[in-house]
Amino acid sequence: MTIRPILTVPDPVLKQVSKPVTEVTDETRALMDDMLETMYDAPGIGLAAVQVGVPLRVIVMDLAQEDEEPQPRYFVNPEILEKVEATQPYEEGCLSVPDFFETVERPERVRIRYLNYHGEQIEEWAEGMYAVCIQHEMDHLEGVLFIDYLSRLKRSYAVNKVKKARRNAAA
Ligand code: ZN
Repeated sequence: MTIRPILTVPDPVLKQVSKPVTEVTDETRALMDDMLETMYDAPGIGLAAVQVGVPLRVIVMDLAQEDEEPQPRYFVNPEILEKVEATQPYEEGCLSVPDFFETVERPERVRIRYLNYHGEQIEEWAEGMYAVCIQHEMDHLEGVLFIDYLSRLKRSYAVNKVKKARRNAAA
């Protein structure tokens, strides 16, 4: 397993629409293993393949608390089948927008369908933090970031903050 560099805003690759995976193969699993390693290292709770520069519809996630055993989840070609009207606010962050957090409202329950690590099709309802995270990560597959839901002012503040931090790190 390899830790891959995570792209940050305003990298144009993050705006790409990711392509479906034709079949879950050992190559897909190797990508998912690298992504999980990269996510744990960051550390983060979710990561889309495009964030490591691979525009494929692949997501990894682990919502376990610090005192719990790891609970890695893998999603290939996820789709939202249904969402409830009720929304919930949640303070979100993103590994591609480091050190910036802002509240976003999303449907509080979504029914999703995806292929897991073994290529088996799963259909289930996601709620709570799981619902927040899967919707955030699935947005990445469409080239959408959580800061795109914010005002123009907040969005440019976030992007400039990341750019400045990167400049300072390079200096
Ligand atoms: Zn993100």
